[in-house]
Amino acid sequence: MLEDKNQQKTTLAELGEFGLIKHLTQYFKISQESTIKGIGDDCAVVFSEGKETLVTTDLLIEGVHFDLSYMPLKHLGYKAVMVNLSDVYAMNATAEQITVSIAVSNRFPLEALEELYAGIQLACETYNVDLIGGDTTSSTKGMLLSITAIGTAKKEDVVYRNTAKPTDLIVVSGDLGAAYLGLQVLEREKQVFQVDPQNQPDLENYTYLIERQLKPEARKDVAGVLAELNIKPTSMIDISDGLSSEIMHIATQSKVGCKIYEDKLPLDPQVISACEEFDIDSTMVALSGGEDYELLFTVPIADFDNIKGNPNFSIIGHITEENQGMNLVTRSGQEMELKAQGWSSFKED
Ligand code: ADP
Ligand code: MG
Repeated sequence: MLEDKNQQKTTLAELGEFGLIKHLTQYFKISQESTIKGIGDDCAVVFSEGKETLVTTDLLIEGVHFDLSYMPLKHLGYKAVMVNLSDVYAMNATAEQITVSIAVSNRFPLEALEELYAGIQLACETYNVDLIGGDTTSSTKGMLLSITAIGTAKKEDVVYRNTAKPTDLIVVSGDLGAAYLGLQVLEREKQVFQVDPQNQPDLENYTYLIERQLKPEARKDVAGVLAELNIKPTSMIDISDGLSSEIMHIATQSKVGCKIYEDKLPLDPQVISACEEFDIDSTMVALSGGEDYELLFTVPIADFDNIKGNPNFSIIGHITEENQGMNLVTRSGQEMELKAQGWSSFKED
């Protein structure tokens, strides 16, 4: 949207593959004890005694998962790391390393990749993870970015999706729906800009929404807060596709039902006002918006007093027997069956 056309440009061909990798990764430091060997050999080497190793990977494709006309490359790098760390934290594990693989067309100069890696580096430093390898190749069109995260946890600490029990409380961190609305705002401004390139967007009323879309933070802190409260979740998942489909994953895999209460869904005031402006139902946005990267988990009902009123968390419902199905209780007390409208199907409406 706000592209600077006067930047100095260096073609990738000028550096060659090895020069490029060296250039992009020169300022990354290794800080994890578990990293034995980082970038530079045929493989990285990691070691963790007495712990389980968790591995997760994501592939992001330009035009499908991100749009560079309003996603600055530094933000893309940061967000791509967050998406992966969020999966590690959703297992109640500690993220320690990442690898980054990229494919780029000759449309991208070195300066663009420097921006991307600046975002990756900021994420690595903020979340204390080491960049230990990757792959670099060319593409005929556009950019592809794949990140793998590696984490560890003690065997007894790992939390899965398939272990929720009837009567467990359903809890979510933070608030929901803001990232989806941030995307709506950015897409609207992109269209305005295409019609009138002189028009500079006024985004003041949407700062939180846009930040949640462009610079999400993975909930590294939740494990520590729960440990302090002496709570171990019975199941956990991160919210990438939307609350509705994530709770359905937990319920289906745990062979239980669930009841979510509409009036308990945590919404930021900017979400509520943007929903009015865009004329969309805030409950729909909270259930199906996606990309919140909050954690959704269940805890034993005995922990109710422990967790209620905690500013990090909202208790939004409870787990039921499987034959009761998966339901939303509306503000007027009606029960509606939950639908798994993920982010993409929601977008087509
Ligand atoms: P190989 O040919 O053995 O796969 P490469 O020449 O692709 O090795 O990579 C050399 C080193 O640089 C390896 O340690 C690899 O993990 C790392 N590396 C390659 N591309 C990237 C990248 N985009 N980001 C970070 N590290 C990378
Ligand atoms: Mg390679």
